[in-house]
Amino acid sequence: MIFEHLDTYGHEQVVFCHNKDVGLKAIIAIHNTVLGPALGGTRMWPYASEQDALNDVLRLSRGMTYKNAVAGLNLGGGKAVIIGDPATGKSEGLFRAFGQCVESLGGRYITAEDVGIDVNDMELVYRETQFVTGVHQVHGGSGDPSPFTAYGTMQGLLASLNRKFGNEDVGNYSYAVQGLGHVGIEFVKLLSERGAKVFVTDINPDRVARAVDEYGAEAVGLDEIYDVDADVYSPCALGGTVNETTLPRLKARIICGAANNQLANNATGDEVEKRGILYAPDYAVNAGGVMNISLEIDGYNRERAMRMMRTIYHNLTRIFEISERDGVPTYMAADRLAEERIETMGKLKLPLGRAQPRFQGRVRGA
Ligand code: NAD
Repeated sequence: MIFEHLDTYGHEQVVFCHNKDVGLKAIIAIHNTVLGPALGGTRMWPYASEQDALNDVLRLSRGMTYKNAVAGLNLGGGKAVIIGDPATGKSEGLFRAFGQCVESLGGRYITAEDVGIDVNDMELVYRETQFVTGVHQVHGGSGDPSPFTAYGTMQGLLASLNRKFGNEDVGNYSYAVQGLGHVGIEFVKLLSERGAKVFVTDINPDRVARAVDEYGAEAVGLDEIYDVDADVYSPCALGGTVNETTLPRLKARIICGAANNQLANNATGDEVEKRGILYAPDYAVNAGGVMNISLEIDGYNRERAMRMMRTIYHNLTRIFEISERDGVPTYMAADRLAEERIETMGKLKLPLGRAQPRFQGRVRGA
């Protein structure tokens, strides 16, 4: 049963981590290391069953292979899940035992924060293994990736405007931004600095008030965001918001935002294309976060990070070209770009997957 799954998705290795004394039940999935060591975060979640946890880690690790490949990183795809409730199940022992498990893989898998895990948890993991990114700045880490993700989203937007309208005049278009969290509010700021008309919504009224007061945005209701007359719909909250119910309502000509898994399914992606809406594939647009933490491996540098974010523009342009070349929707073209890069690099037989991450300039300990 498990090997059938691994055959289907092409995973290289799946490791079950168990420590009875501290209650650790975790799974690390390494999907593909052709481009380099597998990088992907650790999620802590009270999964209803072990099978659910396994399904999630297999799906997410495969997603990281594609994301890292399209981002142009010399990194493969991996992910870890810890089965447990992040509100009640955390302990020093749990994270240190998990860190030992990561360490035992000798750098084939490099972890980071994901849902349910924060920088304090990672500090504990970091005590047991150096194969951690997203550590605190006091350790030479990269800190909060959100401003970089927002800046990367802007690069994706510029490429999309160019493709759709033949210019990059951000201020000439209007935007519907859904979600004003860490990334969304930064993105609104970048849009307003360029003189754009921005409609915003969030379940948190304080965040809406900030966007209105500080950046001159216009507030709309949670559901109303799908009906506003905006040129660009920018999902920056949850996944699955482009679906059969919302799509007929959207007036936007472009979908470009930071949220993960924006399309409810592939059929929605096909329908988006049919309607003549340009979809900027989410995992190419929001790669700023993973690009930023990846730089910790060779010694973090902010200038390099900003330069790297700008490559998102070219990645999107390439995706649009492949979409046209092959006559396929952009979501499919993004996958092809990833697969082509992995295939080409695989033929070069670079020993990247076995290269030892260096983690220069970082300090361990308190
Ligand atoms: P966040 O939790 O800080 O912000 C999410 C915001 O969405 C919150 O303000 C929340 O109130 C709002 N929200 C939730 N449900 C909503 C709804 N139904 N309608 C309107 N608003 C709603 O998260 P974030 O770090 O800003 O990330 C936003 C999205 O981008 C997520 O999908 C995340 O996975 C993705 N992403 C983030 C990063 C990063 O660097 N933070 C990197 C890659 C992808």
